[in-house]
Formats: sequence, C-alpha cells, structure tokens
Amino acid sequence: MGSLDGKTALVFGVANDHSISWGIAQALAREGAKLGFSYAGPNLEKRVRPLAESLGATFVEQCDVGSDAEVAQVFARAKEAFGTFDILVHGIAFASREDLAGRFVDTSREGFLLAHNISVYSLVALTRAALPLFPAGGGAVLTLTYYGAEKVVPKYNVMGVAKASLEATMRYLASDLGPQGVRVNAVSAGPIRTLAASGISGFRDYQRSFAGAAPLRRNVTIEDVGNAAAFLCSDAARAITGEVVYVDSGYNIMGMQTAEES
Ligand code: NAP
Repeated sequence: MGSLDGKTALVFGVANDHSISWGIAQALAREGAKLGFSYAGPNLEKRVRPLAESLGATFVEQCDVGSDAEVAQVFARAKEAFGTFDILVHGIAFASREDLAGRFVDTSREGFLLAHNISVYSLVALTRAALPLFPAGGGAVLTLTYYGAEKVVPKYNVMGVAKASLEATMRYLASDLGPQGVRVNAVSAGPIRTLAASGISGFRDYQRSFAGAAPLRRNVTIEDVGNAAAFLCSDAARAITGEVVYVDSGYNIMGMQTAEES
C-alpha cells in the first residue's frame, strides 16, 4: 500500500529524465499516485510524453506559465480528465543566461521581471487555478527552492532573489489556503545537474564545494528530493504547511566550510 494511493497529482516542470520534477513524479507514482504532466513548449513533448507514459500517465499537456490563457487551458483540460486532483507540483524556474553570470547589480529590469514572472508568479497563478479542482478536504502544493534564496551564492544572482520571493510567496499562499485544508510547502534542494542548472556558470564547482562542505559529504539526487516530496504531499505531512524542507545533505546548517571542502 502506497502513501498516495487514491491521489492524483499534476506535475509541472519535467523537461527530461534529469529534471527534479521527474524524480518527484517517480516517487509519487511509486507511492500510488495517478499522474498528469504539463510541459513548457512544443519541442518538449517528444521528451516528456514517453516519460509520462512510462508511469502510466496519459494526461500530457503544454502550458507556458507566462501565459494566462495557457494556464487556464491546462486546468480546464485537467478538470475534464480528472474532475478533481490532490497534488500540484511546481518545478519551474527560468532566468536569462546573461543574468546568471557576472554581477547581480547589472541585472536588467527585463531580466529581473522575467525571472520573477516565470519562477515566482507562476506559483500564484497555478495554485489559484488549481483551487477549484482540489477536493473538499484540501490539497497539497509543492514548489522547489534553493539556498541561494537565503545566502549569496555567486552567479545565482537574480534567481536567488526570485527564490527568496518564491519562499515568501509559498508562506503567504499557505496562510491564505490553510483554512480550506490546502497545504503549500517547498523543498530546498542541494545543487543537482539539470538543464536549468547548466545555465548557471561555475555549477560544477558549486557541486564539488557543496559535497565537501555538507555534513553528509555527498551531493543530492532527484530521488532524494522525490522521496521528501512524496512525504510532504502525503497525509503523513497533514500538519505541515508553509515550510521550507531542506534536502541538501545538511549543507544549510553549516556556519563555516570545513577543511575537506577544498
Ligand atoms: P529543469 O529540468 O530544467 O526544470 C525546469 C523546468 O522549468 C523545465 O521543465 C522548464 O521547461 C520549465 N520552465 C521554464 N520556463 C517555463 C515556462 N515559461 N512555462 C512552463 N515551464 C517552464 O531543471 P530543475 O533543476 O529540475 O529545476 C526544477 C526546479 O528546481 C526549479 O525551480 C529550480 O530552480 C529548482 N532547483 C534546482 C536545483 C538544481 O540544482 N538543479 C536546486 C534547487 C532548486 P524548459 O526546459 O522548456 O524551459
């Protein structure tokens, strides 16, 4: 018996089998959830559909979260397909490559707004659209953040600022929606090599330094994040909302990097 038997989840943010959302989708499926997937643009369908089908999912719909019309459309289709669903996974972020290098002070207005629109406002838009489709007892929303929200991580720049906003957004949503039984949480994952991460200059060095300094002395995997996500989306976490849960080998507790770091 799985912890998510009888639940349905809609997963945003699978680009390929390295995506953190793919690790989450696999864990949700293992725990018994029925899945639907949404991908960003037409060129992703050929990658996402076979992955979705490998987990028995037939709901695979395009949605650029920068478009109100596409958001409305994907939830209208979810209503037709599922009636209601229980879990919303938001694994989406985007910033221009030029804003993930150099100095934060040089971030353009356009780059700042783009990062916040796609990486942060999308959580508000998707959660609001999901609300009428959550069952009367409530639902679970999960987003993905990173330590660069709290401390300066070189080159993470505008995405760090967007993640700070995302974490605050998650808390405000949790406060708004708690009375109707909707829980909203975030997993703060350690650095994982994905498509999005490849846009961050010096990412390889991040991972090396991270694994040396983290108490568990290892990088994290999409399976590690998936397992925590499955817990947070299950009834076992029914009293947890508005939290950032770290899946980072303990990196965030350290006040100073250790000798092994170099
Ligand atoms: P990923 O596989 O590249 O996933 C990012 C997803 O966001 C992609 O599916 C991407 O689609 C989608 N996306 C971008 N713009 C979109 C839009 N306008 N509409 C809809 N979807 C859009 O990378 P990931 O690392 O798994 O990222 C997932 C989440 O984890 C992000 O929030 C990221 O910040 C967070 N995170 C990552 C790490 C890490 O080290 N990798 C650590 C902590 C947190 P396209 O490929 O089409 O753009």
